[in-house]
This record gives sequence, C-alpha cells and structure tokens, in this order.
Amino acid sequence: METVEFFPASESEISQILKSAQREGKSVYPVSAGNNWGYGDKQPVDQNAWILNLSKMNRILDFNPEMGILRIEPGVTQKDLQTFLEKNHHEFYVPNTGAGSRGTLLGNALERGFGIAPIQDHASAILSLRGILADGSVYESPLKEIDPLLGDCFTWGVGPHLDHLISQSSWIIITEASLQLQPKAECTDILVLSFSDDELSSVVGRLRSLMWQHEGAVGSIKILNKRQINKVNHKDGWTDFFLSSDQQSHQDWFLTLVVYSNAITRRPIIKSIKKQLRAIFRRSILVFDASRIRILEKFLSLLPFPSVRTFLLKVRDLGEMLRLAQGYTSEVGYKALDGSFDPNSNSYFDINKYPHQLAWLSPLCPLDPNSITNLLSEIRKIEEESPFQMKTLTWTVLNPRTLALVIPVIYSADKKDEFWTWYKAVHIRLKDKGFIPYRFHVNMMSFVTTELLPNHFKFVRQFEKSFDPQGTLLNGRYS
Ligand SMILES: Cc1cc2nc3c(=O)[nH]c(=O)nc-3n(C[C@H](O)[C@H](O)[C@H](O)COP(=O)(O)OP(=O)(O)OC[C@H]3O[C@@H](n4cnc5c(N)ncnc54)[C@H](O)[C@@H]3O)c2cc1C
Repeated sequence: METVEFFPASESEISQILKSAQREGKSVYPVSAGNNWGYGDKQPVDQNAWILNLSKMNRILDFNPEMGILRIEPGVTQKDLQTFLEKNHHEFYVPNTGAGSRGTLLGNALERGFGIAPIQDHASAILSLRGILADGSVYESPLKEIDPLLGDCFTWGVGPHLDHLISQSSWIIITEASLQLQPKAECTDILVLSFSDDELSSVVGRLRSLMWQHEGAVGSIKILNKRQINKVNHKDGWTDFFLSSDQQSHQDWFLTLVVYSNAITRRPIIKSIKKQLRAIFRRSILVFDASRIRILEKFLSLLPFPSVRTFLLKVRDLGEMLRLAQGYTSEVGYKALDGSFDPNSNSYFDINKYPHQLAWLSPLCPLDPNSITNLLSEIRKIEEESPFQMKTLTWTVLNPRTLALVIPVIYSADKKDEFWTWYKAVHIRLKDKGFIPYRFHVNMMSFVTTELLPNHFKFVRQFEKSFDPQGTLLNGRYS
C-alpha cells in the first residue's frame, strides 16, 4: 500500500489535512524534509499514517544578528541557512551535521541530533516553538503571549516547561521555531593525533579536563578508528602521509579536536592543549588551519607525480572537515558510507542509489575510562560475530560527561528480516552492559518502548493521553 504524502504550505493547510485525517481514522506523520537517513527516512511507524512533509514551509522568518536568534519554518535546510547567512554577511555558524546540506535544522533538532560546528547539541539551541496539537489548537512557548522577544530570551518561561517535552516526542506538529545561532570565532584550528588502543582510556580521561579548562575554546572532539580514516580519506589514511613514524606506530585511533580562538588567545590555548596531551605520551600533535591546508593543497597540486593525487585528495578531505568545524555544510560525512565518494565534486551523494540499507547504532557512554573499555569490548565482540558490516566507529564527545559511539551498519534489502532480528539482539546485549543509543530507527519503536525502556514509556503514555488521546500525531514514534 502506497503511503499518502501531503506537502502543506501553511498552518491552515496542516489543520485541514489533520481534520481530514481524523475524519478518515488516519494518523499524520510530520517530517521537516524526511531525510532522516539511517533512522527510517520519512517512513511512518504507523502504516496507516499520512505523511505531512513540511519541506515547502521553508522560510527564514527572522534573524536577529545582535542576539543570534533565528526564526524558521520546519523545511529550512542547512544549505538554505548557509545561503542566507552568506548573502547577508552574517558571520554565524550553520548548525551542520554529517548529513550535509539537505538536512533540516528543525528535523535534526527535534530528533536531538548533534553536529560539528557550535552549538553541537541541536535540541539545546531551540529557544521557542510553535505548533499544532492533535485537537487543532496552536501551542506556543511560554512567554510568547507576553512578548515574542522575551519568549526567545528566557526560554524557561514560567510554570511547567513544556518545550522540553517536544523533542523526540509525538505530541505536536511543529510549524515554527527559534534557534540560537553562535557567532563565528576569529580562528579555527584542528588538532590531530593518533594513539593506540591501550592509550584510549587515558586520552579520554584527559579530554574532560581539557573541556573544563578551555570551555568555549574546545569544540568538536571526535575519536575515529583507523578503518574510518582509511575509508574517509582514500586507500591509506591521510595520517600515513602527515604523521611522523612515531605516530604511525600508534594508529588504532585518531583524535580530532577543534579549537576556537582569536588572534590573542590562539597560541596560548593550542600550546596548553598540546602540553596536556603530551603529558600522556610524547608524540607530535599536528595542527591545521584553513591557510595551512590551502598551502598544502597548492604545493601538492604543483607536483608532477601521479601518486601525489591521492595525497591531494586527502588534504582536500581534511579541508572539508575543517569547513564543517567552521560552520559550513559539507558532504564529507558520506565517505563513511562510500570511501570513493568525492565531497569536492560539487554533487550530492544520492542515498537512493546507495546499494545497501543503512541503520545507525549510536550507543551513549559515560565519559569515563571503564565504561569506554566495556562498551568497546562489547562492540568488538558483536562486530566479530556480526553477519552485517559495521563500517566505522566514531566516538563523539557530547559533553564533559558523555560520549556517543556512532556506527553505520549496512545490510542488503533481501536480508531485512534477519537484520532487524540481529539488530534487536544487539540492543539487548548493550542494555545488559548498561548502554543504549540516544536515538532510534522507526522500525525499533515498539521494541524500545516495550523491551528497552518499558518503565519510562509507561509515563510517556500517561502524558500522551492528555496531549493526543487518539494517537493522531506521529503514532508510535517515541510513544
Ligand atoms: C552520511 C550521513 C551522515 C549523517 N550525519 C548525521 C549527523 O552528523 N548528525 C545527525 O544528527 N544526524 C546525521 N545523519 C542522520 C540524518 O540524515 C539527519 O539527522 C537529518 O538531518 C534528518 O533528516 P531531516 O533533517 O530531514 O529531519 P526529518 O526527517 O524531517 O525529521 C526527523 C524526525 O523528527 C520528527 N519531526 C521532524 N519535523 C517535525 C515537525 N515539524 N513536527 C514534529 N515532528 C517532526 C519526526 O519524527 C521525523 O521523523 C546522517 C545521515 C547520513 C546518511
């Protein structure tokens, strides 16, 4: 049965569709663009649902450059915002992700996605919301009825804070939101270092103190496994090219740490971070900024040897990673799925033509050495026994207490039943060890609510009864 999809262009059209759906005993499944790749795309949980694709509601309604407050409709993509900021010479970061320019700002924030440029935790940047409830009434954030600006400035409002119930919920169709954007720093550098499995715990332990000491200056921190670097950066890791021989012998993991600073603070901050990392092991730490990458690129493009082309591509990929850190969109994330994809080719990665199905496995982990060791050893056992390919492992530091280990897992469409059985069993194994992902695929919903978090979702259903007693909105999604 073909799922019906509507593309409303206004709140009143949404209300009409909602009424028709209720008359016909259907539920509606709103998406901002439906590019939730690896988490179910725009597939509703309820097979009886109509999709409300809000991608045509893509206006940037307002931007307050003094305060960095952006008011948007749901369909606004990373690319739309980048174009707007560039055209108006506003030096602010696009809240980007590895999904690249087609990802929406709001869909990603409502899923509690995270990205590379500041502010990385996208749900935390939501200042206020407006949307339609199941009974057709319009919800607005607390202080909006007093003054729209105050509503964005003091997000707690007064009384119970309902906005926090709205990400990863199924109680409201969001039609508008204000997001906090962060102004760009003068200088952006990426520090790169490699280390071995044995050193993972001590490096991670050090990261917490780095974040506390240099709050605001230390940005995105990722720890990528060697396989990831090799896939993302062509046949042999770019680090083989850049790293000294002492680093090459410690290449199980690569840390990339972004530092934001200004001309005065840059040197002392980088020096202090390097010093603290060197206290763990004496090894060279590479620092790249945009001009260093440009010079390298230019130099390599002048060399007449064919083998240099590989290095040149590696430098360009590193440049793309830096662009993400600088708040631009980039398609470099797709190299985790297909190492031969060239993000500089100016074309999109066509996920519909990708020959595999994708599901992310992204367990959360306390930022503490024991937990990291336990999670990694379980994941490695799972991987060894897995009939499906776990492509890459990336630890992302979410805050000084938490990491997420993000793994794209691929399978072929004809093995889908086998895959979901295996995938659910993996989650039970992880739960038994004390780990659970931060976000779930549509196909996992009933399993999450009944097997993984049964107590929590009992409460969720109690709340849901008052917001959406008939289950008209996003039926089955996080409920
Ligand atoms: C290679 C690759 C890299 C990726 N990297 C990242 C990454 O770095 N970080 C990350 O977070 N994700 C990443 N993703 C996953 C995903 O593609 C993005 O999160 C993407 O932004 C989600 O799609 P969307 O913005 O179109 O949101 P949508 O699909 O529109 O929305 C996601 C969900 O939010 C809810 N929702 C959306 N809009 C509304 C609304 N208006 N009202 C009520 N509920 C709503 C729905 O449940 C919907 O299913 C990646 C995917 C790929 C393939």
